[in-house]
Amino acid sequence: MKTEVTTKTALDGRGQKRKAETTVRASNRTKKAAISYGEGDAEESASDLEETPKPKAKGRATKKVKVAETKVEAEVDEDGDTKVKTVKRKTKSKASKKETDLAPLQQRTVDTKLRVGAHVSIAGGVQHSISNVLQIGANAFALFLKSQRKWDNPPLEPENAALFIDGCKKHGIEVGDCCLPHGSYLVNLAHPEAARKKQAYDSFLDDLTRCHTLGIRLYNFHPGNSNATTREEGIRLIAEHINTAHKDPATGSVIPVLETMASLGNTIGGTFKDIAEIINHVDDKDRVGVCIDTCHVFAAGYDLRTPEAYAETMTKFDEVIGLKYLKALHMNDSKAPFNSNRDLHAQIGTGYLGLRAFHNIVNDERLHGLPMVLETPIDATDANGKKFEDKGVWAREIKILEQLVGMGVESDEFKKLESDLQEAGKQERARIGEQVERKKAKAKPTKGKGKAKSKKKVETEDEEDSED
Ligand SMILES: [Zn+2]
Ligand SMILES: [Zn+2]
Repeated sequence: MKTEVTTKTALDGRGQKRKAETTVRASNRTKKAAISYGEGDAEESASDLEETPKPKAKGRATKKVKVAETKVEAEVDEDGDTKVKTVKRKTKSKASKKETDLAPLQQRTVDTKLRVGAHVSIAGGVQHSISNVLQIGANAFALFLKSQRKWDNPPLEPENAALFIDGCKKHGIEVGDCCLPHGSYLVNLAHPEAARKKQAYDSFLDDLTRCHTLGIRLYNFHPGNSNATTREEGIRLIAEHINTAHKDPATGSVIPVLETMASLGNTIGGTFKDIAEIINHVDDKDRVGVCIDTCHVFAAGYDLRTPEAYAETMTKFDEVIGLKYLKALHMNDSKAPFNSNRDLHAQIGTGYLGLRAFHNIVNDERLHGLPMVLETPIDATDANGKKFEDKGVWAREIKILEQLVGMGVESDEFKKLESDLQEAGKQERARIGEQVERKKAKAKPTKGKGKAKSKKKVETEDEEDSED
């Protein structure tokens, strides 16, 4: 097998650590897949590609990349010790280097009442999120603070943190109010077993610390699951971790924000009651919040589609949790029908929620100023069949959401937009809708009362649910 070796060396600005990367590329395999969906291996390379949109492990292209390319990474520290490790090559990082000056797809809207944006990539370092935010004309954003599918991550580089803070200042990005990082998928703060508990807490604390360093005030995470314990104990453990983190000065005044979840079963956070119970156990109630994920709540049985249904859901939220705890929203349409407990994000207006739901949300003045973050799928295929991320989708969706403020639902403009978007999502809605129905029917015991069973079944087959 012929190999081609390239080496690049990056010097960190303070000269504390040199990082040399050697790329070993196998030339007898495909080199074409320029975007690797493999796991990021460093803070500088953790990419939203791993989540937003979630890569579908659909076969050969992805596998080829993994087989074809490996990377040897050598870290040289100050006293000359060299640690060499072989990791999966991320061709994405190469592409991202070129993207430092991203051509804007949309300008940011001045004088908007909303803070809308998307979950952007930090490939190349956390500071690169800023150009991604500007590119899509966003006023809010989410990001991962480190690789969201790995336990071991290098610390946040002070140089990168400084560049992030400067970049926000330079571009008038009020990071304390508009940024909502997303926590790791591995962390389950409801795990009762000592070693797992510590591992989860350490990662949680590390994320909160990174937020504080970066001037970020809100931190969104999935509450956890009670697979290894009871729901009551799980809820108590999550709150206990939040309380412990609050007491650590390294977390500053960062607010942990609990995300509402789509699933029921052992998942904690699928009901407003779960969230309320966690908050009940938190001592410093000024430092805990909630993020409504529109797709998740809809899938969990909270309707948002009509003004009446929306009002009812928000009243329920206020009564059970309290509106003062609402700190942010994830703006996603749903490919799966109401109350299906499936977590399948769709582009705005194309799913079962539809444009009317988003009209209800953006015209609710109580939510103006809260970060609204798109986690909609943007994977697309070009004319040559090559997959790429179409960030133009987010740029358009941001503008749509902004335009919906004050737009009459009886206007021709609204009706046309609504029907165009519904048309665009028609096939996908039918496909997933049919899938959900089929699974329900299949899982139904002879007498037909097996909700829990039907859910389990659905989760193990067909379309994989998103995690965001
Ligand atoms: Zn979400
Ligand atoms: Zn999430």
